[in-house]
Amino acid sequence: MRSNGYYDAIVVGAGVIGASIAYELSVKGMKVAIIEKNQPASGASGAAGGMLAAESEHFQHADLRQLALYSRSLYTGLTEQLYELTGIHCGLRSEGFLLPVESHDLEHHSRQLASAEMDSVGERPYDSEQDSVQADSSHLEWWDNQRLAREEPYIRSEHGMLYNRSEQQLIPSLLNEALVLAAVRLGAVLYRQTEVRRLLREHGEYGRATGVVTEQGVMYGEQIILASGLGSAGLIETEGYRLPFLPVKGELLEIRTPASWLNHTIYGHQIYIIPKQGNRIWIGATSKPGRIDTMVEAGSVTELLFKAQQYIPSITSGELVRCWAGVRPGTADELPYMGTLTPLPGVWMACGHYRNGILLAAGTGRIMADAVASGQSSSIPASFAPGRALQHLSRMQPETEGGTPVWN
Ligand SMILES: Cc1cc2nc3c(=O)[nH]c(=O)nc-3n(C[C@H](O)[C@H](O)[C@H](O)COP(=O)(O)OP(=O)(O)OC[C@H]3O[C@@H](n4cnc5c(N)ncnc54)[C@H](O)[C@@H]3O)c2cc1C
Repeated sequence: MRSNGYYDAIVVGAGVIGASIAYELSVKGMKVAIIEKNQPASGASGAAGGMLAAESEHFQHADLRQLALYSRSLYTGLTEQLYELTGIHCGLRSEGFLLPVESHDLEHHSRQLASAEMDSVGERPYDSEQDSVQADSSHLEWWDNQRLAREEPYIRSEHGMLYNRSEQQLIPSLLNEALVLAAVRLGAVLYRQTEVRRLLREHGEYGRATGVVTEQGVMYGEQIILASGLGSAGLIETEGYRLPFLPVKGELLEIRTPASWLNHTIYGHQIYIIPKQGNRIWIGATSKPGRIDTMVEAGSVTELLFKAQQYIPSITSGELVRCWAGVRPGTADELPYMGTLTPLPGVWMACGHYRNGILLAAGTGRIMADAVASGQSSSIPASFAPGRALQHLSRMQPETEGGTPVWN
């Protein structure tokens, strides 16, 4: 193990993905540097709603569905470990989600949700080859209007709602903070307000990456992990490659209510309403493809309130505490970029988690840390390989076949 400015691994970006990888690498005893150009959770991670919607998101791609279920299964244990190491509660809540759907057919929903033999408490093994989807409706219930009125007196619904007890949610900024602090407690070094400008490579521009060049100087590392969200595109570009991202802006607002008006997350069509501690309710989120600014438009506030009012009519009488915006790091096929970059030896990527990076962070951290520590990327699904969309700037052709590159 190297010391004095030499690291086993350098993680670029202290959003929830970089923080999770840094934490898992530190658990393995590796000497880790985390380099963040602003502050931890200052990117998309600090703007998220915090839903761990492994089933409600209806992932179509089997690898993504598998990662989502695996990742959600880690959160109960992970947040306990983080609390022991840091004293930070991540606000994990396991009351489940309510889905305003039309059909009462639980078998139909369980098939749709592709919820293979799931247990919300037990940790699920990760197996990228496995897609054992069986209809199991044991964690789903139909709540008719009477049940709903008993459980959630402030909700209005014509038909009742589908209750999924397996879904969870937490406070993303606390998760991000706890992961960074836990990594630091285990020996990682955090460099805040330090922007990585480019990679350092052996033999000029062609060799293995041996470190990074920052505003403050050079840092050396055996493995470089780019977990820099949308910022990863610029770093790849300095190496002569293009990796396309599709940014999608989202806005949320927080309402404080006089009493507890909601106990379960409502996961509706183009709207979610999430109960948080202290009688707070988060309402989100807009979806604005191609927008990278973080201004909250007044019209978005009225749009979100209008949609939320359909489920909780009294919501507009609550106090509007704050509203905020962030930019989801999307990709053309809505799959993350995870794995090595063949033209850049020594470099790993973990970014592009689009609208589910909080959900996917725990699993991504575990899988990436295993791969980086062993030097083997074979446990990462091939469908996540960044090479599917990587383009050499001088040639402007995808490096590998497959995938549908979309350039921004
Ligand atoms: C409005 C909204 C709601 C969302 N809701 C949910 C939700 O409910 N559930 C869910 O699972 N997901 C949700 N998401 C998605 C989730 O927030 C993202 O997928 C996730 O945060 C991505 O994490 P990240 O670490 O890859 O990126 P980021 O959090 O953006 O972190 C990247 C970090 O890298 C740093 N960086 C960039 N370039 C450099 C550089 N050159 N040098 C050093 N540092 C650099 C940045 O400053 C940043 O801190 C939501 C997103 C938004 C915007």
